[in-house]
Amino acid sequence: MSNISNRPDWFTIKEAADYLQIGEPTLYRWMRDGKITFRKIGDSTRFLQEDLDEVVVVHHSVKTLKNKPRCSQCGSNKIINGKCQSTGLLYFVPEEAKFWTFKTSTVGLKSSMCANCGHIQLNGDTEHLNNLLKQSEEEVEEIEE
Ligand SMILES: [Zn+2]
Repeated sequence: MSNISNRPDWFTIKEAADYLQIGEPTLYRWMRDGKITFRKIGDSTRFLQEDLDEVVVVHHSVKTLKNKPRCSQCGSNKIINGKCQSTGLLYFVPEEAKFWTFKTSTVGLKSSMCANCGHIQLNGDTEHLNNLLKQSEEEVEEIEE
């Protein structure tokens, strides 16, 4: 075996199905639906391990997500928090016209960047937004009374 260690490790359809612990009909369906990458070597279908690992979708628990934020682009947990700045801070302004009466109708944004792929995520201040929503509901109630 030592003389073939540089050779890519090919999986047959049966081996691929075994590796993923799925039935061969499922694998054929995924191939037909374009859900999995496969290779044709002449008439033979083969997979590389990366093709098989690619179909594995990790669903993180709420707890994991809360403790370790992950990049929505590449899944890395090297997330660096910061602020997005131009000449000043960026704010989210809700479209709803009823918010315009409030001086503080801008919602602050928090930003984080993935140190692995550079993907930047913006997260609004949900507490502030929810307060705005509550305030506007209260105002509507006052008008109706
Ligand atoms: Zn990333």
